[in-house]
This record gives sequence, C-alpha cells and structure tokens, in this order.
Amino acid sequence: MKSLPYFCRGEVIRGFGRGSKELGIPTANFPDLVVDTLPADIGTGIYYGWACVDNGDVYKMVMSIGWNPYYKNTKKSMETHVIHTFKEDFYGEILSVVMVGYIRPERSYNSLEALIAAINNDIEEAKAQLEVPEHLKLRDDNFLTSAPSPSSALPPTSASTSQTIMNGH
Ligand code: ADP
Ligand code: MG
Repeated sequence: MKSLPYFCRGEVIRGFGRGSKELGIPTANFPDLVVDTLPADIGTGIYYGWACVDNGDVYKMVMSIGWNPYYKNTKKSMETHVIHTFKEDFYGEILSVVMVGYIRPERSYNSLEALIAAINNDIEEAKAQLEVPEHLKLRDDNFLTSAPSPSSALPPTSASTSQTIMNGH
C-alpha cells in the first residue's frame, strides 16, 4: 500500500454504541472529514500503528476501517483501539495516529468469542510488528505529539471561541 505510513488526526467523536467497550476493546471514532480524506488505496480492513491523545504519550494501536452499518454501508468508519488502559474517556480530544501497516481484511464472525479472539490476535500482531526497527522509529515522529492545543495555547478568554472552531467541522 503506497500511502503507508499514513498520518492523520481528528477530534474523537461518539460512535454508535456497538458495545466495543463492553467487549473490553473500546474504539475511538474519527469524524467524517478524516475518513473522507483517506487515500483511495487505503481500503477496509485492520491496520496497526501509533497513536497519541492530545499531546500525551504515544502508544501502539490497531485500527479497523469498515463500512458503517448505521449508514447502510455507504459510509466508511475508522475506529482506533489504543493499546493502553486510560483512566477516563477522551471524547472531544484530538487523536493523532500514524497508520503503519496492514494486518488483514474485514471479516464477519459466527460468535462473539470468535470476534474477540480475532481482535486479540490483531493486538498481538500489532505489538510485534511495531517492534520492527523501521516501524519503531515512527513512534518518535513529531506529528504524533504536535496536535494544536487551543485551550492551553491561548489566553482563557479566547479558549471557548477556538474550542467552538475545533468542534465546528
Ligand atoms: P463509541 O461507540 O462511542 O465509539 P466505544 O465503546 O467504542 O464507544 O468506546 C470508545 C471510547 O472509549 C473512545 O471514544 C474513548 O473516549 C474511550 N476509550 C477509553 N480507552 C480507550 C482505548 N484504549 N482506545 C480507544 N478508546 C478508548
Ligand atoms: Mg467505538
């Protein structure tokens, strides 16, 4: 896939509550703007890479790009599971990612157990792949930790205005 590694970022929006968190595998959703600007050669399937919430630490991630059943499969979704246990949700924060490699195509499963097992395999595969020196070096790319941070960069009086702009798309 010639577009990999692919860097992108966006605000974490609410998904459609398909219960990923209940499965122990929460997935942070990107807004349409991010999904719609994906290069054409990045198709549906499971990817691995690096992720950073706001300007925090960089963690390994697995991402699923799929057709969204909520929109009768006419719209894609990009859902990132960050391989880290967070104390709190991070809706509204900026998620920056670099998609590094492709694991497998989308598949449907006969049981929840089979689905969970497949995702756990993906997580193990991502962890191992990202230790390859060529992939490890992308962890330190400045892009990941350089998300614009309006509320901290501006005086308090301007913060609410810029927050509105950030949320405006
Ligand atoms: P939704 O349908 O809103 O996407 P999920 O059950 O998939 O709901 O949970 C996703 C949310 O969980 C994310 O938007 C984020 O705020 C939070 N979250 C907490 N830990 C993680 C994690 N390790 N990876 C991704 N999202 C996480
Ligand atoms: Mg989700």
